[in-house]
Amino acid sequence: MSSADFFKFLRKSEYEKCYRLLEENPDNTIATDADPQGEMTVFMHAIHTGNLEIVKAILANIKNKKEIINYTIHESGYTPLMMSVLTGNEDLVRYLLDNGADRHVKNKIDKSAAELAAFTGHNEIAAIITSRIDKVISCPFISELVTETCLAPAYIALKYKYAFEQVVKNAGKLLDLAGSEPYPLNAKCLYLYQVVQTINEAPDYDKFIKQQTIIVDKSGSKPVQYQTILKCLQKVKDRCPEYRELLQTVSSISKFAYHGTALQKIEEDFCFIKVRKQSERCDTCFKPEAKKCCCRCKTRYCDIRCQEYAWFRHRKFCKQIAEDDQGPKEKPQISMEELQNALKE
Ligand SMILES: [Zn+2]
Ligand SMILES: [Zn+2]
Repeated sequence: MSSADFFKFLRKSEYEKCYRLLEENPDNTIATDADPQGEMTVFMHAIHTGNLEIVKAILANIKNKKEIINYTIHESGYTPLMMSVLTGNEDLVRYLLDNGADRHVKNKIDKSAAELAAFTGHNEIAAIITSRIDKVISCPFISELVTETCLAPAYIALKYKYAFEQVVKNAGKLLDLAGSEPYPLNAKCLYLYQVVQTINEAPDYDKFIKQQTIIVDKSGSKPVQYQTILKCLQKVKDRCPEYRELLQTVSSISKFAYHGTALQKIEEDFCFIKVRKQSERCDTCFKPEAKKCCCRCKTRYCDIRCQEYAWFRHRKFCKQIAEDDQGPKEKPQISMEELQNALKE
C-alpha cells in the first residue's frame, strides 16, 4: 500500500476506504511516512482529523506504538499529542497518553501540550494532561482514579460502582502515593482515599449516590456533597501541611453556595482546573459538560443511569414547575426534610 493513497482518502474524509487499505495491509509502515509537502506524517494527519477510530486503526498492528506517537517532522515541533489537543477530543488525548505520549515535550515556541491546551481554551484537556502521573501503578483502577479531574464523591461512586471491591482492596496504593508524591498529588491521593472509605462505609451504595445529588434551593447548591467533601478533607488534615490552609478555605465556604463551592476549590487545587462551567455539570454525578437536559426544568444528566439516580428529586422539581407554570427559568425550593423522606421511599 502506498501512503499517498491512504493520505488521499484521509484528506477527503473517506474513512471506509482508509479502513479497507489498512485491513488489506496489516503490516503497513505508513504511519511515519511524510505527506507530499513533507509537513506532517500520515499519523499526524490522522490525529488532525480528531477521529479516534482511524488513529486506533493505524496503530492496530504496530508494536512500537509509543515511538510513533512521539514522532514528529513538524517544523515548529508540534507532536501528535499537541495536535490532538487542538482537536478538542478528550478521548483521543487520553488514548495517546495511555499509549505513552510524552507530555513533557515542548514545541519550538516553548509550549507543552498542556500549555497549548490552556492557551487555546481547552481547559478540560489541559487538566487531563496535567493530572497525569509518570509512575506506574499496578492496579488499573487506582491508576485511573488518581488522574480523574472530577472529584465529586457521587462521580467516583458511580464510575467505579462495578469495580469498587477492587478499588477498596487497592486503596492503600493511594496512601503510598501520598507519601511519595509532591503537592498537590499527595493531597489529592489522601482525599481520594477518604472518599473511597466513605463510599465503602455507606450502608447503601445507591442511596449514597442519591443523597449526594440533593439540591435544596433553586440556586442548585448541594449541601450533602459539601459535607462529604469537608469530612474527607478533615480526616487527613495532619498528614499534609498544605491541607490546613485548604481546609480553612473550604470550611469558610457556605454549604449552600452554588458558585465557588468546596468541589470547585479542591478541583482547582488538586486537578489544575481553571475554568469550568458549573451550570453544565451533570446534576447527578457532577461530571462536567453533561450533554443531556430535561426540557422542562433544565436538570442536566450524562445518560439514562444518571437520570434515574436523580429521578426521586427531579420529578418533584418538574411537577412543581408544571403546576406553577413558571417555565424553566428557576428551580423551585424543596426542603431538605422532604428530600430525605423521599429517599426513604
Ligand atoms: Zn452524570
Ligand atoms: Zn425536569
